[in-house]
Amino acid sequence: MTSSHTVTLIEGDGIGPEVVKATRKIIDATGVKINWEVCEAGAEVFKKGLSTGLPQETIDSILRNKVALKGPLETPVGFGEKSANVTLRKMFDTYGNIRPVHEIPGVITPHSGRGIDIVIVRENVEDLYAGIEHMQTPGTAQCLKLISRKGCEKIVRLAFEFARSEGRQTVHCATKANIMKLTEGLMKRTFEEVALEYPDIKASHIIVDNCAHQLVKIPEQFDVIVTTNMNGDILSDLGSALIGGLGFAPGANIGDHFSIFEAVHGSAPKYAGKNTINPTAVLLSGVMMLRHLKEFEAAHKIEHALYCTLALDKIMTRDIVTDTSPASTSEFTDTILRNLGKNFPDYKKRVYKPIQLPHVSSAPDFVKAQARSIRGIDVFIESATPAEKLGTALKETTSGTSFTLSSVSCRGVKVFPTSPGPKIDTTDLLCCRFLARENDEIKDTQIHELLKLLSQHYQWTHLEKLHVYDGKPAFSKDHGED
Ligand code: NAP
Repeated sequence: MTSSHTVTLIEGDGIGPEVVKATRKIIDATGVKINWEVCEAGAEVFKKGLSTGLPQETIDSILRNKVALKGPLETPVGFGEKSANVTLRKMFDTYGNIRPVHEIPGVITPHSGRGIDIVIVRENVEDLYAGIEHMQTPGTAQCLKLISRKGCEKIVRLAFEFARSEGRQTVHCATKANIMKLTEGLMKRTFEEVALEYPDIKASHIIVDNCAHQLVKIPEQFDVIVTTNMNGDILSDLGSALIGGLGFAPGANIGDHFSIFEAVHGSAPKYAGKNTINPTAVLLSGVMMLRHLKEFEAAHKIEHALYCTLALDKIMTRDIVTDTSPASTSEFTDTILRNLGKNFPDYKKRVYKPIQLPHVSSAPDFVKAQARSIRGIDVFIESATPAEKLGTALKETTSGTSFTLSSVSCRGVKVFPTSPGPKIDTTDLLCCRFLARENDEIKDTQIHELLKLLSQHYQWTHLEKLHVYDGKPAFSKDHGED
C-alpha cells in the first residue's frame, strides 16, 4: 500500500448516493488511505439554477485532485440543460472511456462459460455527443457530427496502448464508415494507419451494426473494441447485458491529466432510495480507480470479496435473482465487507501494467493540406415550394453569378433535377448545391454576392463550403447524384 490519496467524490442522483456510499465503505475497509472530497453535481445543482450542473467547488476539487469517483447524474431527456456527465468529460478532456465487459463469477447469463472478456474503448469528447444542435427550420433539427483526425488518433492509440498494458491480442475498430465515409471513415482510416505501429496486436475493422450482432452471437471473439462516441455508448450497454446487466458494467474516463471513474449506468430514478439496486458497477469503477492509483492490492482484495459474495455465498441483488428473495443493497455490501481478505479460488489473474498514455500533438492544425480550394457551396434553404419549381427558379435567379445550381437535395436525396423513379417525400429544408460555373476556384467575395442575391428571394439557414484538399473533394455526394 502506498501513501494516502485525495479523491473527489460525487454521489450523484437517483441511485447514485446508495451505490457510491456502498463503494466508499468497501474501499475504505480495504485499508487503503483515501481522503474523499465530497462534491455536488447534477440534479440538485440544476435546481439551484446553475445551468451546467457543476459548481465551481466541484471543478476546483477535480482540478486539484486529478482523480474523481462519481455516481450517475440525471439529465432531462429531450429538453432542458445539457448533461453534466458529458460536460465533466469534455471539461477535463477525458477523451477515452474505457468500459470492461467481463463474465462475473456466479452471475449466470445465457452466455456464461464462454469467457467473455472485452474492453470497449469509446471516444468520449467528439461525435454527436458534442451536442451541437440547431433547429434549421421550425420543422427540421440538425446535430453536427464532428470527428477530428486528432481525436481519432488519440483514441485509437489509447486502445492499442491499453491492449498492450493488459496483454490483450486483438483490437477491433467498429465504425459506420460504409455510410458516413468522411466522419466514421476518418476513424477507420486512422485506425488502419496507427495499427501498423502495433504489429504485436491483431487489428480488424468491423461495421458497427455487425459488431452489435456478433457481440450477441459470438462475444468471445472480441478482446478490445475501439469506436466513436455514440457507437461506444450503445455497444457498452449491449455488452453489459451479456454479463448480467448494467449493474455489472464499470467505466473509466481517461485523459492526459484527469481521470473520472463511473459506472456505465445512469441514475435509474425508479429505484432511488429503495435499497434494492446493485452497487457492483460503481464498485468495479472504484477498483479501476484503485489500479489507476497503483493500489493493486486493495483492487485485488475487492474483486476476491465480490466474487466470493456472488459465486460462493450466492448473495445477489434483485437485478440477477428474480425468482428467489434477493439481497438488498446493504446486505450485499455487508457480505462483501465480511468477505474482504478471503480468496476466491477460481480467480483469473490478469497482469495490470500502467497504460502508456499516447503523446499526440496538441497543435490545433493537426492536419495540414498542401493545396486547398473551394469548388462550390451547399446552401440550405427553408422552402415549401416543390423542388422542381425551386430548382428552376434558383437557376434563373443565379444565372448571372459565378455559380451554377448543380442539384437540390432533401435529407441527402437528390430531388432536382428530377430523375425517373418514385416520388420523394420532401420537407421544408432543401440543400442547394452551387458549383463554380467555370470549374474555377471560388473566393469568399463571390460567396457573399451569391448569398446577398439569395437573401432577396429565399430564407437560407445554413451554408457549407465544398472544399477540395490536396486535389481530393472533401464533401459527400447526394443519393442519386452522379
Ligand atoms: P439507467 O439509469 O442506466 O437505467 C436503465 C435500467 O438499467 C434500469 O431501469 C435498470 O433496469 C438497469 N440498471 C441501471 N443501473 C442498475 C444497477 N446499478 N443495478 C441494477 N440495475 C440497474 O438508464 P436510463 O433510465 O435510461 O437513464 C436514467 C437517467 O440517467 C437519465 O437522466 C440519463 O440521462 C442518466 N444517465 C446518466 C449516466 C451517467 O451518469 N454517466 C449514464 C446513463 C444515463 P431494469 O429496469 O430492467 O431493472
